[in-house]
Amino acid sequence: MTKAVYPGSFDPVTLGHLDIIDRASKVVDELIIGILVNNKKEPTFTQEERLEMLKEVTKKYPNVSVQTFDGMTVDFAKKNGANVIVRGLRAVTDFESEMQIAQTNHSIDADIDTIFLTTSLEYAFLSSTIVKEVAYYGSDISKFVPECVANKLLEKFKH
Ligand code: ADP
Repeated sequence: MTKAVYPGSFDPVTLGHLDIIDRASKVVDELIIGILVNNKKEPTFTQEERLEMLKEVTKKYPNVSVQTFDGMTVDFAKKNGANVIVRGLRAVTDFESEMQIAQTNHSIDADIDTIFLTTSLEYAFLSSTIVKEVAYYGSDISKFVPECVANKLLEKFKH
């Protein structure tokens, strides 16, 4: 049985993340989404808000669950009995840092491997940062995030 973790900030979850979740859920037997809470960046959404949004948008997947975690991804994976880390690749600009992280993780724990899923082209430009920028100026973000997330963003950036 293949158990995998999908770590990230998910601040907030976008349709790009969901595309990776949807496809990863078909490749592995069990997928645990890990929301990193010790990120150096000050998040827009609290860990509870991010957890709630991710749970809502992944509730239709019986083999997907969501947790928050603090610390190293390899420790989070090991704690959950997972030996695969899933990451999404948008463009070559993601490649260098993702390769470095994957190699570091593998050298810390040789039992853990990272698999990369390349984003669907329609989401290649999407990031949580870009979505927040668009939402901040009050533009339509319904093409970028699930509806419940769009509502949360509008609420957050109500001027
Ligand atoms: P982090 O801060 O760890 O990069 P993110 O929440 O930004 O966390 O991203 C989590 C994972 O999702 C990363 O592997 C990232 O490359 C991937 N990802 C983010 N946006 C997209 C997208 N639009 N399409 C595919 N993968 C994405």
